[in-house]
Amino acid sequence: MKTKKVGSAGRFGARYGRKVRQRVIDIEVKQRQWHKCPYCLKSRVRRLAVGIWKCKSCDSEFTGRAYEV
Ligand SMILES: [Zn+2]
Repeated sequence: MKTKKVGSAGRFGARYGRKVRQRVIDIEVKQRQWHKCPYCLKSRVRRLAVGIWKCKSCDSEFTGRAYEV
């Protein structure tokens, strides 16, 4: 194994310190998950871009916070 168990934050290498990278992992895992739609209440929302979310169920696009709805 070449890399440690740092998941998506592995790209930062040994930089930025352990705590910062752990926070990056938490955020990135979170933003990749399905989120709950405020309109149809189904967990079919994905992040399109920073602060922009789209529901695959009711097809609504809306703005939210950068990393979660
Ligand atoms: Zn929806």
